[in-house]
Amino acid sequence: MNAPAQVKSAFDVARVREDFPILRELVHGKPLVYLDNAATTQKPAVVIETLDRYYRTTNANIHRGVHTLSARATDAFEAARETTRRFLNAPSTAEIVFTRGTTEAINLVAQSWARSTLKAGDEILIGEAEHHSNIVPWQIVCGQTGAKLVVAPVDEKGELHLEAVAAKLTERTKLVAVGHVSNALGSVNPVAAITKLAHDAGALVLIDGAQAVAHAPVDVVALGCDFYAFSGHKVFGPTGIGALYGRRELLEAMPPWQGGGDMIRTVSFEGAEYNDLPYKFEAGTPHIAGAIGLGAALEYVMTIDFAGALAHEHEVLHYATGKMIAIEGLRVIGAAREKSGVLSFVIEGLHPHDVGMLLDHQGVAIRTGHHCAMPVLSRFGLSGTARASFSIYNTREDVDCLVAAVRKAQQLLS
Ligand code: PLP
Repeated sequence: MNAPAQVKSAFDVARVREDFPILRELVHGKPLVYLDNAATTQKPAVVIETLDRYYRTTNANIHRGVHTLSARATDAFEAARETTRRFLNAPSTAEIVFTRGTTEAINLVAQSWARSTLKAGDEILIGEAEHHSNIVPWQIVCGQTGAKLVVAPVDEKGELHLEAVAAKLTERTKLVAVGHVSNALGSVNPVAAITKLAHDAGALVLIDGAQAVAHAPVDVVALGCDFYAFSGHKVFGPTGIGALYGRRELLEAMPPWQGGGDMIRTVSFEGAEYNDLPYKFEAGTPHIAGAIGLGAALEYVMTIDFAGALAHEHEVLHYATGKMIAIEGLRVIGAAREKSGVLSFVIEGLHPHDVGMLLDHQGVAIRTGHHCAMPVLSRFGLSGTARASFSIYNTREDVDCLVAAVRKAQQLLS
């Protein structure tokens, strides 16, 4: 995320594009220009093949089987957990809980840690630019406990300043829950500094890493956070799988939030003894293939020249920003000094939805609407934007197609 725009790297984007079969698709007879990466990333062949191979050679339920396939599936599932641990630099696999994604990971912390800990008058502090997944779970648990949700504002550029967080921290703040990168604006938040500030004030920290994991190396030890949530599909993995990192002593002390198979050691009608970490939080048959596919995606990221890829992606975002702000009547929303992956914009006189439809007809996939971040859009007086979002496989040519498509949409709609 910090990659300076002038970095020249030997990163070979053409080579990486070959890893993603879908990039060869035609849409309305035009080559696909995929700029909806903040919603979900495309999958490299290695992930697709891993899923295919899993169902062809391995499929079985895990953990309790004595037969060969079950052992194979269990080994592959637990190997994916180890890969996820390595990806986040977490100290232990006991601290990696597989979830359906970021949303479920945050709900887990809300319904387990927060619900069992918070009292009336306690506070949860979030940023103004959070995704609904990092707002609503806290609203629900506030309703259950009498705790209060407090919001630190962003400035007119969409930056969340440390001072704004510090101004809202009180001795009642028990948790600071903040996005690593805003999906609506692309702002990169100073999460390590926020974590230090929050800890000094006696609060725990949860980082919503949904938009960060594909755009920066993440090290939960260096960040010092207590919880880190992410989704596999935002980082070249399958949908329906993600992970929560939680510090071991916190997870140990937290009650389970869902009951069922796998999360118990013994059960009688009088009660149940819960399983060890991380299984205590993994009730029911998990998304076994998804976890294994996620492992393949994270291995992919750790195998390619990720630093070079990120420098390339940053350069493409920089190029896109320059080209887009030069379009008359187009306003970029979100001008944080540090941005990652996202270019949100509105065009005078045009509804974002219409822009998105016309771009699609030219093969350019962007997202339009509120991006599940309604509060920050209303902060900018908007109900929606058009959003182009970038990944390591996007190119300057993609940007040129975007710009040409936007100009054409302006002509058609004016
Ligand atoms: N947080 C942020 C910042 C996001 O961008 C998203 C998805 O767009 C989420 C949370 C929710 O992710 P998921 O729907 O994969 O749980």
